[in-house]
Amino acid sequence: MRYISTRGGVAPVTFSQAVMMGLATDGGLLLPEKIPSVNTATLIEWSKLSFADLAKEVIGLFVEQSDIPKADLDRLIENSFATFDHPDVTPVVKVGDRYILELFHGPTLAFKDVALQFLGNLFEHILAQQGGQLNIVGATSGDTGSAAIYGVRGRKGIQIFILHPKGRVSPIQERQMTTVLDDNVHNIAIKGTFDDGQAIVKQLFNDLDFKKKYQLGAVNSINWARILAQIVYYFYAWGQVNKGANQSVTFSVPTGNFGDIFAGYMAQRMGLPVEKLILATNRNDILSRFFNTGTYRAGTVAPTISPSMDIQISSNFERYLYYLLDEDSDKLKSLMAQLDSDGGFSVADKIMAKTKPLFWARAVSEEETSATIKAVYKDDNYILDPHTAVGVCAATGRSEVICLATAHPAKFGQAVEDATGRTPDVPKVLQGVMERPTRCLILSASFEAVRDCMQEVLG
Ligand SMILES: *Cc1c(COP(=O)(O)O)cnc(C)c1O
Repeated sequence: MRYISTRGGVAPVTFSQAVMMGLATDGGLLLPEKIPSVNTATLIEWSKLSFADLAKEVIGLFVEQSDIPKADLDRLIENSFATFDHPDVTPVVKVGDRYILELFHGPTLAFKDVALQFLGNLFEHILAQQGGQLNIVGATSGDTGSAAIYGVRGRKGIQIFILHPKGRVSPIQERQMTTVLDDNVHNIAIKGTFDDGQAIVKQLFNDLDFKKKYQLGAVNSINWARILAQIVYYFYAWGQVNKGANQSVTFSVPTGNFGDIFAGYMAQRMGLPVEKLILATNRNDILSRFFNTGTYRAGTVAPTISPSMDIQISSNFERYLYYLLDEDSDKLKSLMAQLDSDGGFSVADKIMAKTKPLFWARAVSEEETSATIKAVYKDDNYILDPHTAVGVCAATGRSEVICLATAHPAKFGQAVEDATGRTPDVPKVLQGVMERPTRCLILSASFEAVRDCMQEVLG
């Protein structure tokens, strides 16, 4: 399996090359040349597998043996999910008349661990084969930073620099990052906003001399390996709910950058019987507006109690758009150019009609999110985190929906307490996190300050 760019300007590359490239060199996003398909008999067979064994089957379809030998790939998949504290890795539980797919049993209690534990292992393996160093730089508004740090902490050949806005992430999220004391982990609190951090990271990647000299790598969800790992749990959940039958299911997905729901779309394209994908956003609703009106246009970001979904422009959406435009790179490029020049674009009704059979989108207000947390606690004695609650709310009125639970409620304790009057129990991995020693640099929100700091560390 080779990988190509949505913008058509990259000669096909291997899986390993795609993982190291992150963003395609022509500014597009990497996708497999062909989507593998899975027949019903295989689906039924797969539904008997453990999560890790299923991951070996699904991921194996996207990686050539000449690139990563099967034995190596299987071992690193096994290692990636051994760090989860639930034997099913991503268990499915019945809560009222819906299913909750718990994706928060990894080391940082958010679904991003599923992909970033795998990506950390992949980076280490590929570097061991090729030699060299990888220096990861990223900006975080909360969840991505800690999941990325836990993915690569202590790994050979990798340094990671994570910028967070000083005093603007939750105290728990800050401690989850700064209490990791491995030598290869560098937390930087910048005196500015998340947008400042993101702008600095962009400048670092645009400084081509710097990028080349220091082999900069990206861990955000533009990396194909992240999508790939997430495809697995759609198959897994289908198997758990169907128990050997071959019925289609609906998934409700709390959405920000469109990475998670795009993995669901890929699973459907591969042959998983999916009735609907419910795209649930908070009031930062650029994506639900697109699916309901055909117009994609950024507004200003409004803070919410589901902060990991507070986005303006969704970095992964380009992958879906490429398929929606029948894999026409030229059409895609002209829409992206329009997005840059005019701040938005519209897609014709005839094309939007193709989204209708699978996608159904809805924005959920802050009040509805809190009310959902409260109602599910009262009726079903189950505590939702605010992100998960957005998805559960959007699924209202449908039964037997599989709702993706993207974070553990203890990560967002205040919002949960405000809604239910009760603080969620704190899982073992978070206990004592507020008391542990921390290490963090504080810098002004300037490109030069961060660049000089990295140069000093890397020599
Ligand atoms: C990142 C995140 C999301 C959004 O996922 P996307 O792949 O960006 O759509 C939802 N919930 C939580 C808790 C997250 O951390």
